[in-house]
Amino acid sequence: MSEYKTFNADDAIAFADEHSELFGEHSELSAKEFGDGNLNLVFRVENDKGTSLIVKQALPYARCVGESWPLTTDRARIEAEVLKMHRRFCPEHTVEVRHFDPVACAILMEDLKAFRILRTELNAGKKFNHLAPQMAKYMANTLFYTSDFVLSSENKKAEVARFLNPELCLITEDLFFTDPYCNHERNNIEPSILANAKPLWHDEALKAEVAALKADFLSKPQALLHGDLHSGSIFIDEETCKVIDAEFGFFGPVGFDVGSLLGNLLLNYLACPGLHDNQDSSEQQAYLLEQAEQLWQEFSEVFTELMARETQDPALENSLYQQRFLQQVFRDTAGYAGCELIRRIVGLAHVADMDSIDDAGKRAECQRNGLKLGRELIMQRNDLGNISQLLNLVRYQQAGTAN
Ligand code: ADP
Ligand code: MG
Repeated sequence: MSEYKTFNADDAIAFADEHSELFGEHSELSAKEFGDGNLNLVFRVENDKGTSLIVKQALPYARCVGESWPLTTDRARIEAEVLKMHRRFCPEHTVEVRHFDPVACAILMEDLKAFRILRTELNAGKKFNHLAPQMAKYMANTLFYTSDFVLSSENKKAEVARFLNPELCLITEDLFFTDPYCNHERNNIEPSILANAKPLWHDEALKAEVAALKADFLSKPQALLHGDLHSGSIFIDEETCKVIDAEFGFFGPVGFDVGSLLGNLLLNYLACPGLHDNQDSSEQQAYLLEQAEQLWQEFSEVFTELMARETQDPALENSLYQQRFLQQVFRDTAGYAGCELIRRIVGLAHVADMDSIDDAGKRAECQRNGLKLGRELIMQRNDLGNISQLLNLVRYQQAGTAN
């Protein structure tokens, strides 16, 4: 292919056929565009025996808005390259990219049709004990092996340059750290919680902390992040989970990925009273807090072990420094989790966990709890010593609002 063209079903078939041996010579292929994502085209290409692959193509604009929001197609390269890099360090939990074409801006990848999107499953009250340990392993390995602990100085700088991703980073910078804290036209605030959202615009103490978190996001290239690690980017089945959709990847603060995922577990936790009846809600909440605890515990254990065993830079072998590093990641994690709670409730991109609560009164209450907890996590992050303290804060907030 010599120039970019938006794929139709036939183009997706030709692309999948050309770049895989999977379908054989005489197989009848069909394709369907079925993506429910915000930005890209996603086709399933299937043969008459049911074997299938996914073709994901970046459009020169954001799909959910249209041509009035132009967006670089280079995001497809970022996505393919981040996924390949992460798969090197955690093959079990990263979707397999089979081929990337820089002209078509299209990725051919493994079809995870036997899996379900984690967010949908959590909203339905499903519980998976393997979620936290597997995602902890994914984050610890992908983040450690792309950090200064391992990469040579020269290589690290070359990698940072290869993954600058300015246009998609700007979206995160705006949506996470700017819009929710001012009266921005992109915000999406339910009228019933407007009185709770407005104080965020004038809360100078909070805005100072959010500014510090944003400044770190802008200027702390610690490791190659996934960059959009929410529960819609994780596929899960009864045994395993796999990460997709890394187009927001770049070198940033380790706590951003961990905090995004923790924030999504907490969003689901806060939505439980609106999604389930009393008994199911308390069980699901207990499950989610266990997972949140395990997510941090196992992440920090694996990361600590990797630092002790695999660090290449002699200065960074210092174990006191390593402890300090992880403690800072924990604080960043708490802060970014707080930002995720707030931006998913008053910002442009909401989550179904909250929005699918039918009862308007309950939905508003869950959203208000999210804003409160988000603020506390951001404000208190430097005083939180460990995950138990963080989860006590969550429980305390929830108990306070039940009275
Ligand atoms: P976007 O970047 O546009 O948000 P996603 O990567 O999130 O797109 O994909 C949108 C949807 O397409 C997913 O929610 C999922 O339903 C489907 N999808 C994407 N990748 C795969 C895959 N590898 N296997 C099966 N379904 C997929
Ligand atoms: Mg995406």
